[in-house]
Amino acid sequence: MSDPHSVIVCPACDLLIERKLLPMRRHAHCPRCHQHLYGRYAFRPSQLMALTITGFLLLPSTLFEPLLYLRLAGVNSDANLLKGILMLFGEGELWVASLVLWCAVLAPVGLLLGIFALASGLAKRWHMLAPTLKAVEVFRHWAMLEVYIVSLMVALFKLIDIADVRLGGGLLSLGILMLLNMTLLILFDPAPYWERIPLQNASQELDHDPDQCP
Ligand SMILES: [Zn+2]
Repeated sequence: MSDPHSVIVCPACDLLIERKLLPMRRHAHCPRCHQHLYGRYAFRPSQLMALTITGFLLLPSTLFEPLLYLRLAGVNSDANLLKGILMLFGEGELWVASLVLWCAVLAPVGLLLGIFALASGLAKRWHMLAPTLKAVEVFRHWAMLEVYIVSLMVALFKLIDIADVRLGGGLLSLGILMLLNMTLLILFDPAPYWERIPLQNASQELDHDPDQCP
């Protein structure tokens, strides 16, 4: 008899499908509706760790180096990511400042930390596999560095007519971090990590859930 835990449900048409080990870089699709089910990606944990460590190294210059240098009416000024958020807080724009802080700083950093903890095995060692996977799932929906960069570019094109604008090193780091984050979002597959969570925990949770056990 086949292992019942290797059977998965197609999220699009509810067909029951037996999960099989795929060769590298191959993907499984539903035979009925062709929905993408799972894939075996080329990224090994060591490669994920290398990407996340690169992200951590980029963080100081992304957060503290000026994104832009401005010269307007003889006055020089510069702006970095954190200074911009603090200025928004200072102007009383609490919602906008909190949203930028969450989407452009906390969620991307959380995503890097979460994937590093999973790839390095720290999450499993600390018995935090399930909370880390849930946190990564939240962060991957909220990490929006590309939206921040697009809005920065729009502001830049508006400013270019009235001020002398020079790009700062922080913008380059932010661009590289955005590409790195997008690569992680596309190529990080949480399925193998979910499979490592012992099934005992799930059955214990069901036993304690009054809705599941009348
Ligand atoms: Zn299907």
